[in-house]
Amino acid sequence: MNIHEYQAKALLKGFGAPVAEGVAIFSADEAEAAAKSLPGPLYVVKSQIHAGGRGKGKFKELGPDAKGGVRLAFSIDEAKAHAKEMLGNTLVTKQTGEAGKQVNRLYIEDGADIERELYLSLLVDRTVGQVAFVVSTEGGMDIEAVAEATPEKIITVAIDPDAGVTSADLAKLTAALKLEGEAAADGEKLFPILYKAFVEKDMALLEINPLIVMKNGRLRVLDAKVSFDNNALFRHDDIMELRDLTEEDEKEIEASKYDLAYVALDGNIGCMVNGAGLAMATMDIIKLYGQEPANFLDVGGGASKEKVTAAFKIITADPAVKGILVNIFGGIMKCDVIAEGVVAAVKEVGLKVPLVVRLEGTNVALGKKIINESGLDVIAADDLDDAAQKIVAAVKG
Ligand code: GDP
Ligand code: MG
Repeated sequence: MNIHEYQAKALLKGFGAPVAEGVAIFSADEAEAAAKSLPGPLYVVKSQIHAGGRGKGKFKELGPDAKGGVRLAFSIDEAKAHAKEMLGNTLVTKQTGEAGKQVNRLYIEDGADIERELYLSLLVDRTVGQVAFVVSTEGGMDIEAVAEATPEKIITVAIDPDAGVTSADLAKLTAALKLEGEAAADGEKLFPILYKAFVEKDMALLEINPLIVMKNGRLRVLDAKVSFDNNALFRHDDIMELRDLTEEDEKEIEASKYDLAYVALDGNIGCMVNGAGLAMATMDIIKLYGQEPANFLDVGGGASKEKVTAAFKIITADPAVKGILVNIFGGIMKCDVIAEGVVAAVKEVGLKVPLVVRLEGTNVALGKKIINESGLDVIAADDLDDAAQKIVAAVKG
């Protein structure tokens, strides 16, 4: 789960990280009071969407010459004017895709005088099985581009979970970021704070791009992107409250109600599969035969008929889906349960696209019987390869 920048900053501030004063607003009427509550004379008006690259982004409705999604304002009136122009419009950035995202919230922040922009993130480094800091002096820009052009400018410091952030780690980080004097002292306080926040809140990613050294020599968290590990959200009610459903894919929201592992994708073959490994293999083989999957969906080990019905409905409700492939290996999951779920769902919502079903394993004979006797127009397949070829052929017409 992702949260907005202003929420991430409030969270980090709670742990003691240096962030600017700021106010989140939902309508342009609130801009004046928000700006007046800040010290000034520099304000920053920041679009709150779950995507980065806002500064260089463009508003669809405003044309190519208009300013981007993060704007400096030198007076309260200017901050108000920016808020009015930005709210409700669609911001397109490198990370939003062409459709862009509607800006429904703004964050008005006390502006900083920037000396240097640095990059800092925390993530779970699977190669070493530890939480690691990834830092670079090249902040404020696309870190993927830095990684490509000058990989030596990105430094990773993995943290031993027993020891926590040691003084040796701190020395490596301050050296990598070339921090001196007060900025180095600020860093030595900040890095353990960020590590603590990451671990305690079960984050999957904490990215600060940029972390800045201000003209007065102090450090400040200028941007913050936080993603949480969904599997640990059950123990963080405070984080769950920050969820913004308007930022999430409707199909994924629906799937999460039924505890389905579902990820929406851009292709046109809807997939209903059990087991993450089989789901991946199914997506791969669809691609092998020249089409793209419309989703990843793992209905899980012991799915009920209701869960299968819900999954099928989510797939069929997607207008991009031009064919459906049900690929089930019955282990704990029984083929007859899947068959009943599919039949129930089709009876309820109808079937407008070709459906290929491949069942194997526990209760396969019963499963096939249920499908055969249902009167549904189903294309039966014998194995994974056969199933993939059949659905690809059916979609191509
Ligand atoms: P992003 O474009 O979505 O990554 O949004 P950021 O929060 O990183 O802001 C983009 C850029 O705007 C930063 O890299 C800064 O150059 C600039 N910016 C943001 N806040 C301030 C500020 O307080 N003062 C100044 N001078 N520039 C800022
Ligand atoms: Mg940024």
